[in-house]
Amino acid sequence: MRMGTIRNRLLVAFVLLVLLPAALIGASSVYFGLRNAQRQVINQLQSVATLKEEQIEDWLASLRVHLAAVIYPYQIVTLVEPLLAEERTTLAYTEAAAALRLQFDQMIATTGLFEEVWLLDTRGYTLLATNRAREGQVHVTQEYFWRGLEGTYTQSMASTTAQGVTSPVVVAHPVRNADQQVVAVVVGRASAQKLNAIMLQSAGLGETGETYLVGPSTLLLTPSRFADRNTPILRIQTPILDDVIRNHTGHSGLYKNYYGDPVIGIYRWLGALQIVLIAEQAQAEAFQATYAVLWVNTVVALFTVLVALVVALFMARSIAKPLANLANTATQIAAGNLELHAPIERNDEVGALAMAFNRMTARLHKLILDRESHISDLEEAEAKLARDVAEQQALSRLSNHLQRCQSLEEAYHTSVTLLRDIFPACAGALYRQWSAAGAPQLIGAWGDAQSLQFQTAHSECLKLINQAHASHNHALPAAKQGAFTLNGSHYETLCVPLHVSGESLGFLQIQKDPDALQDLASLISRVADLLALALSNLQLRENLREQAIRDPLTGLFNRRYANEVLGPKLEVAQHTQATVVVLLFDIDYFKRINDTLGHDAGDATLRAVGRMLNSQFAHGAIVCRFGGEEVLLIMDNLSRDAALQRAEQLRQALSQLVIEHNGTQLPHITVSMGVALYPEHGTSHDELVNAADQALYRAKSAGRNQVFLAECV
Ligand code: GH3
Ligand code: MG
Ligand code: MG
Repeated sequence: MRMGTIRNRLLVAFVLLVLLPAALIGASSVYFGLRNAQRQVINQLQSVATLKEEQIEDWLASLRVHLAAVIYPYQIVTLVEPLLAEERTTLAYTEAAAALRLQFDQMIATTGLFEEVWLLDTRGYTLLATNRAREGQVHVTQEYFWRGLEGTYTQSMASTTAQGVTSPVVVAHPVRNADQQVVAVVVGRASAQKLNAIMLQSAGLGETGETYLVGPSTLLLTPSRFADRNTPILRIQTPILDDVIRNHTGHSGLYKNYYGDPVIGIYRWLGALQIVLIAEQAQAEAFQATYAVLWVNTVVALFTVLVALVVALFMARSIAKPLANLANTATQIAAGNLELHAPIERNDEVGALAMAFNRMTARLHKLILDRESHISDLEEAEAKLARDVAEQQALSRLSNHLQRCQSLEEAYHTSVTLLRDIFPACAGALYRQWSAAGAPQLIGAWGDAQSLQFQTAHSECLKLINQAHASHNHALPAAKQGAFTLNGSHYETLCVPLHVSGESLGFLQIQKDPDALQDLASLISRVADLLALALSNLQLRENLREQAIRDPLTGLFNRRYANEVLGPKLEVAQHTQATVVVLLFDIDYFKRINDTLGHDAGDATLRAVGRMLNSQFAHGAIVCRFGGEEVLLIMDNLSRDAALQRAEQLRQALSQLVIEHNGTQLPHITVSMGVALYPEHGTSHDELVNAADQALYRAKSAGRNQVFLAECV
């Protein structure tokens, strides 16, 4: 049994509360009950002793009376004095003796109080005795003799026992003559029968009670009630008896009697007889009623304790069980099960505690839910912030990379790689579109992109973009399109136009499940904006560049571009031991066209020459309009003959060029050409161009429409 639980402590407290008083009351009732019973028994024994003492007193009084009356005063002269004065042989003596003996015998016979009577003279000499053997004996040393001379005296005979035939009591009485002088002492030995009868009367002491007399020498003087027991009892040995005999006082107590039985008894010193009167009763009998009452009390007390224990068990259980239930619920709630409720079974303090506990738990639960919701909001905000930061970083990375791109082409291709990094979990594709009407060009795709899906999907996208163009809506919306299911997963394609200031740069497609697309919508839109802006900037830059290096009339590079590229080419050729060919031609008599056919015809001619050069000679040569109707071609790594051959081919092709203007065909043109080679005709830009120019001049001089090689320096 663990003492830590309230139930067990309550139980122990209840049991102690019941047992301690019960034990105390029981012990005190036993103690006081026994003490009262002892007092009552002793009182009863005292009463019996008093009764016996009175009976003995009466008996003694009658002994004295009858002994005093055994010789009448008038008989002294006739019956006693002759015995004193006469010789034993005289008649007077004999007659007196016979008469007196007769009188003694008659008194013994009539009263039955004495066993024997004898007469002593004043010297203690036995004059006459009913027991003739006693006559002549001298009793001068006997106390009853010399006390008898003074008055009536009763003496117990300590030497006489209950087993003896003689009575323990002797009475002496003085015999006085007419002058009141003591002339003799009459002594009578009391009959033991009467005394024994007095002592043997039970007198209400039950089956085991008895009274008896004990002499000063502890000799038993009267027979025991249980004399039929064979053991002869001569002396009584009890601790109380010695004390009583020594101090001549009364006493009472519990002890073992002469048979070794536990008894309760009282001892009373009878001063008149100098003996002890003992009245006693077996304890078993004396306390029988008390024991019975105590036994009944004990049974009642045990029953009460048992009932109290059962009640205590019930009470402890009824108090501790709801508390234990509450503690159990509290433990489970502490373990995290906050939805639990403590049962409210009773309308008492425990019930109130359970109610308060439930309220507290509900508040705690709400608090925790609020806190969890708050934490979840914080986490969401944190995740959003992280997402925003990541998006920002991705955008910034995209921006940086695009800024480093040198051309629009490079930017488009770099964008595909960057988009793959930004949307790694998605499939996607980037399209370039030159115009709203033109076909989109797939730059690249990534992820599990189903190109077919893209192919079919972009028509929808195009429709949307066209609609936006038609309505001059520059803020083109992202279009959801092409929902499809693949391998059990649902996909959707988001098409975002890359569009800046009415200029279409293409569109971006991202494929993912609809929910993820929803989450990515903002990033996709921002990426698309950034991408469109960057591509647009590059487009603008390329346009400007084109404008800076292209001749608008012919579409050929301009002289500035020729000057820009020739120097670096020569440096490269110097390192690679390659050749560089500079070919310069001039249209012959061009002024005439202007003059005869008009300036527009001159322009048309120049446009036709430019078109032809761009389509047939741009590959493998840099073709620049060097002056009014002069054109410079820079070609890599050609031998002199090859260079001359290419020049000749070009001259012939130009001479066969059909030029139409305003529906009419213009006259064929001829050109004169000068060809210079690096390093043969010069090692610098100026040297080579001058060499070619001089060769051209010479060709003109030589009659035009021909090719001249520069002269070696
Ligand atoms: P040749 O070279 O054979 O000696 O004779 P030419 O008539 O070509 O002589 P020149 O080089 O002096 O004439 C060039 C003319 O080209 C002068 C100028 O008016 C004309 N010209 C230059 N640029 C343009 C242009 O852009 N358009 C037109 N229509 N004419 C131009
Ligand atoms: Mg010219
Ligand atoms: Mg000319």
